[in-house]
Amino acid sequence: MVVAGLGPAGAAASIHLARRGMRVVAVDRSGFPRDKCCGDGLTTDALRRIRRLGVAPGDVASWQPVTEIRLRSPSGRRVELSLPGGGTYATVARRADLDAALVDAARTAGAEVREGCRVVGVEADAASVRLQLQGGEELEAPYVIAADGAWSPVRKLLSGGPATEAYLGDWHALRQYFSGVTGPGAGQLWVWFEPDLLPGYAWSFPLPDGRANVGIGLPRRPGQPVGRLGRLFEDVLRRPHVAAVLGPGAGPEAAVRAWPIPARLAGDNLSAAGGRVLFVGDAARAADPLTGEGVGQAIETAELAVTALAAAGPSAPRRAARRYRGAVARGLSVDHRLAAGLSRLLASERGARGALRAAGASRWSRDNFVRWMFEDYPRALALTPWRWRRGALAGPPAYPG
Ligand SMILES: Cc1cc2nc3c(=O)[nH]c(=O)nc-3n(C[C@H](O)[C@H](O)[C@H](O)COP(=O)(O)OP(=O)(O)OC[C@H]3O[C@@H](n4cnc5c(N)ncnc54)[C@H](O)[C@@H]3O)c2cc1C
Repeated sequence: MVVAGLGPAGAAASIHLARRGMRVVAVDRSGFPRDKCCGDGLTTDALRRIRRLGVAPGDVASWQPVTEIRLRSPSGRRVELSLPGGGTYATVARRADLDAALVDAARTAGAEVREGCRVVGVEADAASVRLQLQGGEELEAPYVIAADGAWSPVRKLLSGGPATEAYLGDWHALRQYFSGVTGPGAGQLWVWFEPDLLPGYAWSFPLPDGRANVGIGLPRRPGQPVGRLGRLFEDVLRRPHVAAVLGPGAGPEAAVRAWPIPARLAGDNLSAAGGRVLFVGDAARAADPLTGEGVGQAIETAELAVTALAAAGPSAPRRAARRYRGAVARGLSVDHRLAAGLSRLLASERGARGALRAAGASRWSRDNFVRWMFEDYPRALALTPWRWRRGALAGPPAYPG
């Protein structure tokens, strides 16, 4: 098997394929550790999956568990939420560190990892897929798992080459690392629902040693230049309630970075070339349309794709694609539709104020909302009886303490 791209989706696919005894070659154009523009936030579902991939907190230098969450409504009202103790339900970890640990885990599982190795061509026929690498080498396999991120060069190469009109993602997001954080943001995770960002939001996610990942994310509006977002971010940073959370000595460590978030999961986007190419993670546009999270979704789609192709075998790619589509439809797609609906509710100031008022109304609502928001169980669990099982609402934490 060949895996193109070694972010969380590609690393997870490589690990699951190798654990099933398949020969795996996994390529990435970058060398690890490499940065990935991200909020670095990991919720319970992502953490449970990362644990199953064999990565432990001690493998990731910047691993920062979080228990205290603060949300700010467009009205200025603050909602204080606490995650349960006894283990980890939320963590912030720099993607440079996390992704390198996942790539190490892929190697340990038996995948042949090739870094600094860019995919430049793809050809497929009824029998196999051939991936051309920069430098002239070609890899041939019964399946290619395309885990090559939001811009997915594999998808572009299959659908007409680099001239194909770019898919720009459904969200724009910017992030910048800060150091010298001495305000409450040094230990608490903050989300601001600013009226001019809705249904998007601004965040400050704590990292060790007085650092924080600070950013904004909002749905892309056609024609909106990314430069305008940069100015909006600068403006958000100057707002007194945001500046107070970071503290007076906080300053940026490096330039701000922007990247799209693809959150348009659809059956048609999951495979190509008669099922010989399966897309996972951002390449499958699997990020959550409400929060923009995509790491857990990247790992989950990789798991589902591997299970589907293993069940179908090497000579039934259409069956593999059908199985993969079905598995995504039974789980992730329902969570996506619910998240997209809630995002529409948050688009108006009134809706966002009402949602946060309801979340913060009582101890019961706060405790339940925070576990739902931090993906202790699937977002649309209540709507999907086939996922109900004993203990589904009170599973153990990702890393029991
Ligand atoms: C600002 C921002 C904030 C975010 N915050 C969060 C958050 O807090 N929590 C969360 O869960 N998600 C967040 N996300 C979403 C998350 O970053 C993505 O969903 C996640 O990275 C998807 O993982 P992936 O493995 O599919 O893709 P990626 O992580 O993008 O990995 C794709 C890999 O493919 C490689 N590649 C690309 N082209 C080629 C090629 N031609 N040949 C070989 N290799 C190639 C790349 O080098 C890369 O390593 C955020 C996104 C943004 C932009």
